[in-house]
Amino acid sequence: MRVFLVLAMILALAQNVSAQSLNTSEGDALPQGDDWVDQGSQAGLEAWLTGFRDRALAAGVTAQTLDQALRDLRFDADLIKKDRNQSEFTKTIWDYLDTAVSDDRVVPGVKALKRHADLFARIEAEYGVEREVVAAIWGLESAYGTFRGKVATINALSTLSYDARRAAFFEGQLIAALKIIQNGDVTPAAMQGSWAGAMGHTQFMPGSWWEFAVDFDGDGKRNIWGDDPADALASTANYLRHWGWTKGQPWGLEISLPTGFDYDQTTERVRKPVADWAALGVRPMAGGELPDGGLASVLLPGGARGAAFLIFSNFQVIERYNTADAYVIAVGHLSDRLRGGPPIKAGWPRELRALTQDERKELQTRLTQAGFDAKGVDGRIGPNTIAAVKAWQKANGRIPDGYASLEVLEALR
Ligand code: CA
Repeated sequence: MRVFLVLAMILALAQNVSAQSLNTSEGDALPQGDDWVDQGSQAGLEAWLTGFRDRALAAGVTAQTLDQALRDLRFDADLIKKDRNQSEFTKTIWDYLDTAVSDDRVVPGVKALKRHADLFARIEAEYGVEREVVAAIWGLESAYGTFRGKVATINALSTLSYDARRAAFFEGQLIAALKIIQNGDVTPAAMQGSWAGAMGHTQFMPGSWWEFAVDFDGDGKRNIWGDDPADALASTANYLRHWGWTKGQPWGLEISLPTGFDYDQTTERVRKPVADWAALGVRPMAGGELPDGGLASVLLPGGARGAAFLIFSNFQVIERYNTADAYVIAVGHLSDRLRGGPPIKAGWPRELRALTQDERKELQTRLTQAGFDAKGVDGRIGPNTIAAVKAWQKANGRIPDGYASLEVLEALR
């Protein structure tokens, strides 16, 4: 069960990001758009529906709910196309952050925090999650409730369940959605969201709704869909608390690294006490002392020529919302900006473009052929590929920052 990201972020970022992490369960192989031949039909959807009704009844959905929610289903080829093509979109972290944490996202966020000051104070007191962090997720997921999605959730999940690619996952979400309707929290017409089934102010999937949604305004319904954000924001705080949010600790912060720093240590796999990092010459970019937030890792999301961050356990909690490093950094940095913090100081290697899906696969293939096992060719730049890049860089006298750039690929060619 996880919560999904919507808006313009249906894209795979160049570094550390998979389309799966922005969308559904990890481990799915994502076919290329060209592999897609049979895209389905209305008749096919209706035939699928006959079998689905029996499975839904067996799972505890009533015939009345099914009759009410599943009439007028319309096959939507556009959704299948979106689902197929996600992995084709790529963005570098700096392009992503330019949009995700622009002034257009910071200014309305500061206003929203003021407008809902009382609500945020109560949520912070109840769940122990800083209001700026909850607001940052709200800002990224729906631009503070402005873009909650207008796709009918039942129709979207039915189409995606009928489609064979990730049928089991979506059918589970569809049954969860039908049970929400059966529970009386929302009408089928009001249950709207993204094309992939994420709903409301902070884009909960139906399964996450059952696990984590709360009725914060006390009207007896867990309403994450309506104009009032109270239930959705409290549900998000509840989600973060469940996964171990530690109030008063930073998610991370921008740091400077000393000359001669051992870049082999710049990975989430290396965790050290803050004092050890300080002894190695790691300093806050903003000056002063490093905050003591327990074990920390150094992250270079744009390689050695980009910004460096020291990240703490709260970083892993935000990952529960979305595993993409870029997403987590965007949430964390936006929360800092909403608190009045400064922009990221370091530059980025903006002349480098993102690798395409084919290039990411080629990189993995070539690394493995060269004796640096990327542990699979899936076009996803995860910890194994980063480790292989690092090993290749070390063996070739380069800074081992693990950044899967075009430069690395060209050198491997
Ligand atoms: Ca409520």
